[in-house]
Amino acid sequence: MCGLRFEERYGEFAREYMHVHHKTPLSQIDDHQNHRIIPEADLIAVCPNCHAMLHHHPDKPCDIKTLQQLMKDAPDKSDINDRN
Ligand SMILES: [Zn+2]
Repeated sequence: MCGLRFEERYGEFAREYMHVHHKTPLSQIDDHQNHRIIPEADLIAVCPNCHAMLHHHPDKPCDIKTLQQLMKDAPDKSDINDRN
């Protein structure tokens, strides 16, 4: 999402390291047992920094769109792109 690629910073060792974020917080799903997660729709791969920001304010959940906007509005725009 922010374009960070771990292998660019840490080399081959870190290849494809990413966190998986649930777009709908599991706490908001009433029926866990019968809820089927559709990976393409429900999950998104994000770097640990973005993942931390998505959960930074537990009382004010941040969605992907909001985080992208926050990054656009942030002072340092040097490495923002849409690479996911
Ligand atoms: Zn990120």
